Amino acid sequence: MYELIVIGGGPAGVAAGVYAARKKIKTLLITDSFGGQSLVSNDVQNWIGDISVSGFDLGKRMEAHLRAQESIEIVDSDIVTSIEENSDGFTLTTEKGNTYEAKSILLTSGSRRKKLGIPGEKEYESKGVFYCATCDAPMMGGRKAVVIGGGNSGLEAVRDLTGYAEKIYMLHRRDTLRGDAVTAQKLEKHPKVEFIYNALIQEIMGETMVNKIRYKDKESGEEKELEVEGVFVEIGARPNSEFVKDLVDRNEKDEVIVDHKTQASSRKGIWAAGDVSDVLYKQNNVSSGDAIKAVMNIHEHLGDL
Ligand code: NDP
Repeated sequence: MYELIVIGGGPAGVAAGVYAARKKIKTLLITDSFGGQSLVSNDVQNWIGDISVSGFDLGKRMEAHLRAQESIEIVDSDIVTSIEENSDGFTLTTEKGNTYEAKSILLTSGSRRKKLGIPGEKEYESKGVFYCATCDAPMMGGRKAVVIGGGNSGLEAVRDLTGYAEKIYMLHRRDTLRGDAVTAQKLEKHPKVEFIYNALIQEIMGETMVNKIRYKDKESGEEKELEVEGVFVEIGARPNSEFVKDLVDRNEKDEVIVDHKTQASSRKGIWAAGDVSDVLYKQNNVSSGDAIKAVMNIHEHLGDL
């Protein structure tokens, strides 16, 4: 019986693991990887203490920091698929069929990329439709690409593509971007980049590979086509919270609803932090801080028990 099981190895999970170890809480951390969603970033520039770090290096350093804690146990190639409440706490079952018992649980299972759900998206997946610019931008050498979505992930995708593609369009459904203004202003001046606003993508077309998209101009109602060989979908994420849907309250976005003072969920004994929670700002630094808040509160809860 562990006092705490942390689910996830992103910035929230790792921060929780380090703090729990230092509080001598008997802890197990279960994850399939370290570093969270930044793992695919070429260049993270806002992780405090690092002017610039690749997502890969950040993940490695997080893992090393966690493994340096003597008292923490780690399962690093499995994921939790279900949780059951029992008289002493909770029983967790993993994809590999292992079970673990805990008095308390911290959910830091993050989120995964959303899909557009339009004609052609599924058909051309990996044949010109991509969800990871860092991984697939090199395939756009000398070609034209379009990034869908006006958030920070979209802007990062555009930035990654400037190193390879001949022309990059950023197609956004509104007239203002959601992502950081500083990055956007730099990209707007880039000779290869063109921003198209108020544009709703309708269809991805091609033959064996993508060769164009069709979109609707929201203002004129006109349908237009854009010749591109790559479509990079960066329209946000959905939280990995299905496995607790019968245990804790979630909002309409499937985020686990927490008390933002303590990170406690609606179920006694379960806390959540990072992108799986209903935190407004999905940021590595915020996720770490929220997870630490949760561990402080879990420590008090275990003391009361
Ligand atoms: P966001 O939710 O921030 O942005 C998603 C974008 O996609 C929005 O512009 C949204 O439009 C658009 N969108 C959503 N659904 C559709 C659709 N069906 N069709 C067309 N467009 C759509 O997601 P991100 O992945 O960009 O970022 C997630 C979080 O991670 C954010 O909090 C972000 O700040 C953070 N992040 C931070 C980074 C950093 O700080 N370095 C790097 C990357 C991400 P609309 O604006 O109209 O809602």
